[in-house]
Amino acid sequence: MAFFARRDGQLHVESVPLGALAARFGTPCYVYSRAALESAFGAFAAALAGRDHLVCYALKANSNLAVLDVLARLGAGFDIVSGGELARVIAAVGDARKVVFSGVGKSAAEIRQALAAGILCFNVESAAELARIESIAAELGTRAAVSFRVNPDVDPKTHPYISTGLRENKFGVAFGDARALVRRAAASRSLRVVGIGFHIGSQLTETAPFAAALERVLVLVDALGRDGIALDHLDLGGGLGIRYRDETPPAVADYVGALLGQVGGRALRILLEPGRSLIGNAGVLLTRVEYLKPGAERSFAIVDAAMNDLMRPALYDAWHDIVPVADRPGPPRRYDVVGPVCESGDFLGRARDLALEEGDLLAIMSAGAYGMSMSSNYNTRPRAAEVMVDGAAAHLVRAREEVAGLFALERKFP
Ligand SMILES: *Cc1c(COP(=O)(O)O)cnc(C)c1O
Repeated sequence: MAFFARRDGQLHVESVPLGALAARFGTPCYVYSRAALESAFGAFAAALAGRDHLVCYALKANSNLAVLDVLARLGAGFDIVSGGELARVIAAVGDARKVVFSGVGKSAAEIRQALAAGILCFNVESAAELARIESIAAELGTRAAVSFRVNPDVDPKTHPYISTGLRENKFGVAFGDARALVRRAAASRSLRVVGIGFHIGSQLTETAPFAAALERVLVLVDALGRDGIALDHLDLGGGLGIRYRDETPPAVADYVGALLGQVGGRALRILLEPGRSLIGNAGVLLTRVEYLKPGAERSFAIVDAAMNDLMRPALYDAWHDIVPVADRPGPPRRYDVVGPVCESGDFLGRARDLALEEGDLLAIMSAGAYGMSMSSNYNTRPRAAEVMVDGAAAHLVRAREEVAGLFALERKFP
């Protein structure tokens, strides 16, 4: 089913025309499709059916409470990278039992918070972090469940900013150090070793790098087995890419199927940490054309969304499809679609052929992941509203920020 489709000359999200949402909630506005999100989760659940598993949604892709709620109802767990994200899970779901805590810089306060909340495990990224978790758990008289994120040193062939599994990246325990570190943890009275895993990058469009990482990690799993360390789970991370333009990422069933084939009969629960592949194509950024600025060299369509709303084009030179919400007859012109922010890097798309008039609505497609969650208040711009469509209903799931709130915590000199 197409969750974003043109009907009667207008782009709809499920049964709701985007023009109606702009009238009701204003622009810029993120719009998500609950059905698209559920369908994406369903693909993972189906691919893992018959196998003990937990799909831990990576909150950093989009941490709106409604997104977490929808996924929790389907049985999802969560992959977090901060105490703030843990608080979001607890607010949306009520408990933290299905939370895995990733990230290279967990503070002592975050470790305490996570232990108190009873998370499933820490994904440990260094010897120093392991020592800190151990001492805090000892002090609290508890046993901390730890899984190890191994850096398998494989090239994910994605944008360097979102590659995380190369030796030169800051992430994970070096492959050569992992066995000794896990053994040390297994001998601790304050730690309980529950798993091992990897996460090698984001927006990967081939299965091969995942397979290469898994092959290395399985060597470790087997070596640990010979050491007498039986793991509960194997965490295959996130990183599966989506189609923004013409990418051809593997289907979830093929990607998961290939990895499960490699795991074979090993009695391990399978964890996955998808973010982008669950929410990326379940959301659009709705924006309105403020001005048209035709020029000899270039023509600009200046819209009311900007790099502070959707940073990916400015940050990664990422490409998002930009489509008019309503059909407009007439010859297209080639526009750079730009925002009001005072940076030349403030563009949402370049050289797009569009027939436009002032006041028209545009949808920036595939904006569900790393859109709102990376947004900022640069230029003292209130963050956009967020709406989730569910069939014929539309729910405001985050109100548009108000300007006064943006400097409410600031103080002039006394
Ligand atoms: C970002 C991240 C993910 C999710 O990555 P996607 O590319 O959005 O699937 C999963 N695990 C960890 C540890 C991450 O940092």
